[in-house]
This record gives sequence, structure tokens and C-alpha cells, in this order.
Amino acid sequence: MNNKPKLRIGLIGTGFMGKTHVFGFASAPKVFDLPYEIELHTVADISEEAARKAAHDFGFAHATTDWRDLVNSPEIDVIDITAPNALHKEMALAAIAAGKHVYCEKPLAPLASDAEDMAIAAEAAGVKTQVGFNYLCNPMLKLAKTMIAEGELGEIRGYRGLHCEDYMADASSPFSFRHDPAGGGALADIGSHALATAEYLLGPITEVLGDCITMIPTRPDAQGGTRAVQVDDVGRAFVRFANGAQGSIEGNWIATGRKMQHDFEVYGTKGALSFSQERFNELHFYSTEDAVGRRGFRRIEAGPDHDPYVRFCVAPGHQLGFNDLKAIEVAGYLEAIAGLRAEPFGFRDGLRIQRLVETIQASSKDRCWKSVPS
Ligand code: NAD
Repeated sequence: MNNKPKLRIGLIGTGFMGKTHVFGFASAPKVFDLPYEIELHTVADISEEAARKAAHDFGFAHATTDWRDLVNSPEIDVIDITAPNALHKEMALAAIAAGKHVYCEKPLAPLASDAEDMAIAAEAAGVKTQVGFNYLCNPMLKLAKTMIAEGELGEIRGYRGLHCEDYMADASSPFSFRHDPAGGGALADIGSHALATAEYLLGPITEVLGDCITMIPTRPDAQGGTRAVQVDDVGRAFVRFANGAQGSIEGNWIATGRKMQHDFEVYGTKGALSFSQERFNELHFYSTEDAVGRRGFRRIEAGPDHDPYVRFCVAPGHQLGFNDLKAIEVAGYLEAIAGLRAEPFGFRDGLRIQRLVETIQASSKDRCWKSVPS
């Protein structure tokens, strides 16, 4: 018999990320020894059909078209927000005011000032938060961070980080919440992942020189007309890190042919790392300590030695998948709710990323280097 306390989840949004979160909730208890038993309580979607179908398919006890039902329910402990970006703030603040823990997809909010309100409110209420920067949950990123911290690459000189996809490359793809000025643009939408990975590996970015551009100025709207796009399709920046390294970051949703190029390279005095999310069970390591004539990037394959891979699979090289990263994220968050560890990536961390995004955008607008507020 399971004597663990129940943690009751209210999920808002049943699209791409809603489903991914459900995969996370479903597999995390089978893979990790969690401090709670997860109960999928209620799912909300603006579409009644989507909410009903999600309740049936995902195993929620209840469905609603009004997300406030979740916030107001005394039977729900965690509000999980996978709705469009512009709605995150209102939903999160209402949930925090009701004393709920809040799990929110990235970007935390399109404006750093809104993200700051959310972080302050959560801290004041003492609730635990999590932002969905799931790529940070990859065991190979943990390995890269450890190798850098332990000096295997020597002094770090350079960094290149990308998050490039092509889901907006077709100019006829319609205006969506992601094009809304309250949605954020490519830098906030996916460049935020590249920024989170850069700081996870190398520590704080202190200065940026941004170049953000809208390449497709209008998109078809749902009424058969067109709408002007004001947000960036591509956001790039030269960056300087507090540790003295320099580098570059790119968020790009019109990168024709690229489906998931969440990539980085790190260059040090003794070695280098190269990673691509398109083959995210591998990390490539170059060492200057290898014999001359024998040097080259060697491929390290994910396996049981790379925590927490072994919890999913005992055999090396069999590979984790995208949804497994959400299971790892869920496990870390539940441990934080239980007070067993610090929040892995809470609202204050989400705010930090939003500040970086905004500083890059301001730098691009003013065409000059800017310091990142600490
Ligand atoms: P989506 O369009 O597939 O899903 C959004 C869902 O929210 C839809 O089901 C929609 O009907 C619902 N919704 C809209 N308004 C609502 C309301 N008022 N009340 C309740 N439900 C409402 O979008 P998505 O791709 O799942 O993106 C959702 C969020 O997840 C965004 O913040 C996005 O940036 C983020 N995201 C994160 C990742 C990641 O890797 N972490 C990947 C994709 C998207």
C-alpha cells in the first residue's frame, strides 16, 4: 500500500506542452522514488472538447473550461500552467494568492517586470515554483557542467549557444500567440532555452550586444486578413560572462531545416565540448592532453554512469527521449515541494532569463553593448 501523501495537480492547457507535462507526471513516479503520490485532479482548456478529451486521454478526474476552477479548488495543490505566454502572469498570480505551488512553462512572462512580480509573489507566499526549462534536465548537460567545473577544459575562453528551429520559417504560417507582442518572439520563446543553458554551464552573463530582427513582417490571421508582426524572428547576441569568457547566443525560429538545434560549444585552454539536442544522448569532448596526431572530438554516449539515466534504463546507449526530460523536471520539482532540495529552476531563475532577453532586445534597439542587471 502507498502511504505517500497525495499531490493533486491542476493542469491548464492541453496542447503540446500539456501532453508533455502529463507524460512527465505519468513516468516520474515509476522512475523516481518521489515524496508524493501524484493525482491528476482537474484539467482546464478554453476549448470544452479539448478539456474533456484530455481528461479522458490523460486520466484527469475532472475537466473544466475555466482555469479559475482549479485555482479556487481546495482539492488542488499544484497549478501547472501550459497555456500561452501572455496568460502565465494572471494565472500564476491567482494560483499563488490561493496558496498553490506553481509549475509554469517558459518564458515565465513576456516582460521581466511581470516575471519579477511573479517571483516576488511566490517568495512572499512561500509556495514552490518551477519553470519548464526541460533541456537543463539532460544528464549530458549535467556531465558537461561537471567537466567544466572540475577544470577538464582548463580556463574557459569561448562559448557558442543556439536554439534554432524552423516552425515559423514559412511566411504563410498563421499569426499565433507566439507573434503577439505579449507573446515574446523567437528570443523569448526559444532563445531563452539557449540563455538558460549558457548560464547553467558557464555562470552569469554580464554584458550583451544584441541584434534582433523581424524577417517576416506580416502573417495571415484567422479572419482571412493579415496581421503585422512586431516581435523578432531571430535574436542574436554577443555575450561576455562573469568568468571572463566571451561568446554568442542565437534564438531563431526561421532557421530553415532545423527542427531542434539546441546546441552549444565550449572552448577551454585544455579542451572543448560540443553538443547538439538533435543527438542529445551524446556529448563530444576534445582534449589537448591526447597525443598529437591522435586528437579529435570523442563521443561520450549517455549511459548508467550519467545520473539519472540509469533510472530509466540500465543499458548504455539506449537513449533517453524528450518526455523523459520532463519526468526528470517533475521529480526535481516534487522534491523541492517536499523541502528535500532547493527549487531546480524556480520563478527567480525564470526572471533572470527574462532579464537577459530584455537586455538583448534593448541592446539591439539602441545598437550598443548593455550590462545585464544582476
Ligand atoms: P499549444 O497551443 O499547443 O497549447 C496551449 C493550450 O492552452 C491549448 O490547448 C489552448 O487551447 C490552451 N489555452 C489557451 N487559452 C487558454 C485559457 N484561457 N484557459 C485554458 N487553456 C487555454 O501551445 P504549447 O506549444 O503547448 O505552448 C504552451 C506553453 O508551453 C508556452 O508558454 C510555450 O512557450 C511553452 N513551451 C515550452 C516548451 C518546452 O520545451 N519547455 C516547448 C513548447 C512550448
